[in-house]
Amino acid sequence: MTSQTAPKGTTPSSDQIRRAPKVLLHDHLDGGLRPGTIVDLARETGYSHLPEADPDKLGIWFREAADSGSLERYLETFSHTVGVMQTRDALVRVAAECAEDLAEDGVVYAEVRYAPEQHLEGGLSLEEVVEAVNEGFREGERRARANGHRIRVGALLTAMRHAARALEIAELANRYRDLAGGGVVGFDIAGAEAGFPPTRHLDAFEYLKRENNHFTIHAGEAFGLPSIWQALQWCGADRLGHGVRIIDDIQVQADGSVKLGRLASYVRDKRIPLELCPSSNLQTGAAASYAEHPIGLLRRLHFRATVNTDNRLMSGTSMSREFEHLVEAFGYTLDDMQWFSVNAMKSAFIPFDERLAMINDVVKPGYAELKSEWLFQQTASTSGSVAAEG
Ligand SMILES: [Zn+2]
Repeated sequence: MTSQTAPKGTTPSSDQIRRAPKVLLHDHLDGGLRPGTIVDLARETGYSHLPEADPDKLGIWFREAADSGSLERYLETFSHTVGVMQTRDALVRVAAECAEDLAEDGVVYAEVRYAPEQHLEGGLSLEEVVEAVNEGFREGERRARANGHRIRVGALLTAMRHAARALEIAELANRYRDLAGGGVVGFDIAGAEAGFPPTRHLDAFEYLKRENNHFTIHAGEAFGLPSIWQALQWCGADRLGHGVRIIDDIQVQADGSVKLGRLASYVRDKRIPLELCPSSNLQTGAAASYAEHPIGLLRRLHFRATVNTDNRLMSGTSMSREFEHLVEAFGYTLDDMQWFSVNAMKSAFIPFDERLAMINDVVKPGYAELKSEWLFQQTASTSGSVAAEG
């Protein structure tokens, strides 16, 4: 792009950030419920352990518990959301609202993950859980379309690191891929990193590789380089869930030059996608502030960085909120937002031709429109001031 036309410095407004087409790869279904829905579902399903009965107070309780720095309280938040997601109707509703909320926020493509094994307490089978969530996503896509938004949502099935069902869940993910209209697009491993290395689940990853299927692994959030190295070189992950600690293998010298270690070079050379989640990292202490978040350096060094929400309820966030923080911290423009969105779309687990169509037919035209709007506003305000001076 030439300097005459380059809308550099196109700082987007909140409204433009919301309307910009965004792509989300790392979002947990049980981390994104509406507080009002939790209250409704608790009443309907007889769940009696909620700390607050009022939706507004409950929303605040979730954010404060997640902010508290106590792992126990943080994990307690998920016991409540998972606690009310044990029936078919509850799963359909939560998934539908998830798709609706993301679409309302300007997300055009999302991969949303959940662990089927955590939704069996009400007597559902693993298959029934997957089918209920798929149905909810399709319903949410339909409702979004009726409201003038287009979104496509794919599911990632998560296995828990501390449990022993990874192969079973990987087989489940493989069975529900290739569904007409949308289905399960990949697999993930989540849960405490320390003490539960991904190599415990090698059978699941080897199975998925043999099936030519895709997977991401939560790695390099709290635990650092060994976890990233294992996820890539032992397990063969296509993407890194977080991966933010790759920063530990990058040295910024006193003169500003940068030296990458072998692992960081590998990650960048192979264009391995990093599912970065800034707000979530601030809550868990993986970063001290948005301005100090490694995403700034990783973007400058052209890693395949993407922006994600992780747990919208616990972090009180959305894709727009994440970008608002980054625009403020790093002065990002619409060009930067487009770069992150194209990165994410390139890294999605749907087929190449469909990713390309999303980039060329949805993401790029969306940003082009916003940029021309921005230029128009600039021109209008400049000619306005000239007229006033004249
Ligand atoms: Zn996560």
